[in-house]
Amino acid sequence: MAAKIINGKELSKTTRAALKTRVQELEPKLGRAPKLAVVLVGEDPASQVYVASKSKLAKKCGIEPVDIKLDADVSDEELQEKLTELSSDPTVDGILLQLPLPKGLDEYSALLKISPDKDVDGLHHSNQGLLMRGAPAHRPCTPKGCIELVKEGRKLLGLDTNLSGLSAVVLGRSVLVGKPVALMLLEENCTVTLCHSRSKDLAKICREADVLVAAVGRPEMLGGDYIKPGSIVIDVGINRLDDGRLVGDVNFSEAAEVAAAITPVPGGVGPMTIAMLLSNTVSAAASKIDQT
Ligand code: NAP
Repeated sequence: MAAKIINGKELSKTTRAALKTRVQELEPKLGRAPKLAVVLVGEDPASQVYVASKSKLAKKCGIEPVDIKLDADVSDEELQEKLTELSSDPTVDGILLQLPLPKGLDEYSALLKISPDKDVDGLHHSNQGLLMRGAPAHRPCTPKGCIELVKEGRKLLGLDTNLSGLSAVVLGRSVLVGKPVALMLLEENCTVTLCHSRSKDLAKICREADVLVAAVGRPEMLGGDYIKPGSIVIDVGINRLDDGRLVGDVNFSEAAEVAAAITPVPGGVGPMTIAMLLSNTVSAAASKIDQT
């Protein structure tokens, strides 16, 4: 295997250790611990696992998690009322609405009830608009984690973290991952190509990429022929195979023969998504001090 492994678990640990120190400095000024409200609707097992892990890691950083569980048959009005209440609670710094919501609930309208300054997932359209303008705002967690991982990959290769002028290809154009990560790579002055299910000659386009981000949700779709020698590959995909194994969108063993650095699945983007959520929460709390 030629590629260096970009260890998201380790990077997440280092990031969270730095956050813990920041929280210790912040707490006396704030008069309390930063608080993250996590709203879970229904009983989806995967969502329950994510929420539990977010709360556990928040606590480790000194952030107070508040878990709010609502029944799957909650109405849009009730859900939105809860989010409005949390938004106007001055002791709550960050609000995360765990997605996806159970079928029938209006996700977009619910997200809009989260005050943009507490929208630590960066999914309120106001924060998305600010991202498009290149203005400061909470950046969405998975894309923000991807950028950190690309920079970590550069460091592993003995290169600087300036991504200016690099060719970046993003596979997938979802609102959650593909589009924001493309905009964030653009903010880093990369030349960005955004691909999707209608794109032609995907492997050829990907082979041009110094930085390749795969977010399609198709197990091991990207073989070695999609990878440019010497590139950095970030695999966002999480796919469970019939035999129970978790794999990414990239065929890891093939890609690792060609790339210079690559994230594993699991242990790559996933842990960094949580670290970025906690980072956004601490920034939301810190901004209250800055305003006084
Ligand atoms: P999504 O909303 O389903 O979007 C998938 C995107 O991939 C779409 O833009 C789609 O194109 C494109 N696509 C699908 N098949 C393709 C193909 N054969 N060729 C080219 N493009 C194709 O998924 P998502 O929410 O972005 O998530 C993507 C993956 O990342 C999933 O595996 C998800 O579980 C994972 N994920 C991981 C994290 C984490 O923290 N690690 C966070 C979020 C998501 P069209 O737009 O043309 O349909």
